Amino acid sequence: MTSTNDIRRGFLDYFGSQGHQIVPSAPLVPQNDPTLMFVNAGMVPFKNVFTGLESRPYTTATSSQKCVRAGGKHNDLDNVGYTARHHTFFEMLGNFSFGDYFKEQAIVHAWTLLTREWGLSPDKLTATVYHTDDEAFDLWKKVAGLPDHRIIRIPTKDNFWSMGDNGPCGPCSEIFYDHGDHIFGGPPGSPDEDGDRFVEIWNLVFMQYEQEDAEIVGNLPKPSIDTGMGLERIAAVMQGVTDNYDTDTFKALIAASGALTHTATDGANTASHRVIADHLRTAGFLIADGVLPASEGRGYVLRRIMRRAMRHAHILGAKQPLMHRLVPALVTEMGAAYPELSRARPLIEATLQQEETRFRQTLDKGLKLLDEATTGMTDGTLAGDVAFKLYDTYGFPYDLTEDALRERNIAVDREGFDTAMAEQKRAARAAWKGSGAKASDDIWFDIVEQTGGTEFLGYASDTGEGEVV
Ligand code: ATP
Ligand code: MG
Ligand code: MG
Ligand code: MG
Repeated sequence: MTSTNDIRRGFLDYFGSQGHQIVPSAPLVPQNDPTLMFVNAGMVPFKNVFTGLESRPYTTATSSQKCVRAGGKHNDLDNVGYTARHHTFFEMLGNFSFGDYFKEQAIVHAWTLLTREWGLSPDKLTATVYHTDDEAFDLWKKVAGLPDHRIIRIPTKDNFWSMGDNGPCGPCSEIFYDHGDHIFGGPPGSPDEDGDRFVEIWNLVFMQYEQEDAEIVGNLPKPSIDTGMGLERIAAVMQGVTDNYDTDTFKALIAASGALTHTATDGANTASHRVIADHLRTAGFLIADGVLPASEGRGYVLRRIMRRAMRHAHILGAKQPLMHRLVPALVTEMGAAYPELSRARPLIEATLQQEETRFRQTLDKGLKLLDEATTGMTDGTLAGDVAFKLYDTYGFPYDLTEDALRERNIAVDREGFDTAMAEQKRAARAAWKGSGAKASDDIWFDIVEQTGGTEFLGYASDTGEGEVV
């Protein structure tokens, strides 16, 4: 069996041998884009190279980029534990051409690596193209010999990429692997495409147009290539399993979680162990890159992820904080490829332990309240003010409550939650004014509202919760 670590190495070596500069992963906190919460694709650290703002001593590159998709435009948080192929943290393998090679060579590289170097059966592969991209359609026939019915034209935004309203954009072509008809799901573009049978493994983006205010205004002088392949997905394929969580890395993390909680890792426990393994990686890598749990912004996303994992540890019956005890397994699996993880190990362990110790103080009471509020409910909606109380008094991030009720088909009244939050802010503001404070303090409240800091007002719980992002 080829290990995930060997697959990562093999990818970089292949493109290295084809003249690409091997570039280490950038940190998860974007260095060049304040609008982005976390790096969520391999191309992010190269954005300025693609737009021409920055030049590098090479025109082709390859990387394995740490990515987090747990908020904003790409939010896969709610998928974790429920699909075989989504994580909040994953590694994106990529090859990039900055005005060097274009469409044909990108397809040749992808096809050569998958079918020749790695020996995947061409019969298992399907490609999509943007519906108007005849050039890509013809290249898939010419280069790969794919029959027409396995080159699927997709008319949606899924197959058209852009950097925003301004800058490079272009069609993309996605490669799907068919795990077989024993798995539910249909080919891309079909009604059942969201199943786990046909899994998107690799996205090739052909940057060829220039956009201004969301309108294509011309061709790029130097068309470029950006590709992204999910390491965990290709590892599943190459290890002959149909589920990312059955690959070597995840099996080791899940085994550790099973051993420490003395629980079976299958059956009813499956989702909990998966959430724990996934969130352990995300928390570990975020902390290693300098993010700490907080009541707002990036730190609040981290806190939400940590607490969600901690609820699942509680479901498994863990009587003591669990997450920090899993860090050694994480370092064993991934520390060689990412030395920052080994270096930050003491900080990761201390942060997880402190957060879990703190959260466990209110978790039980919160869950009891949630149980009482939903006794006898088989579906329907939890009132927003209950969700708010859970948040405010017991430190339950909104999405944790949602996740806790999801398996029972109960929704949460988001609007009611927001109203309760707004009402509390209003009351706090009134109380503040009533205390004889000067009008200029209003400005302070505006700032607080904009930034989401609430702890100072004292109405947030002792668990230090703040704004929901
Ligand atoms: P999907 O449609 O499956 O959500 P995507 O189209 O959002 O994937 P891209 O933005 O094209 O994904 O990212 C490139 C590649 O990164 C994908 O082809 C996939 O292999 C991988 N990938 C994307 N999101 C995730 C995730 N949440 N977990 C693991 N791998 C992912
Ligand atoms: Mg997606
Ligand atoms: Mg997709
Ligand atoms: Mg895609």
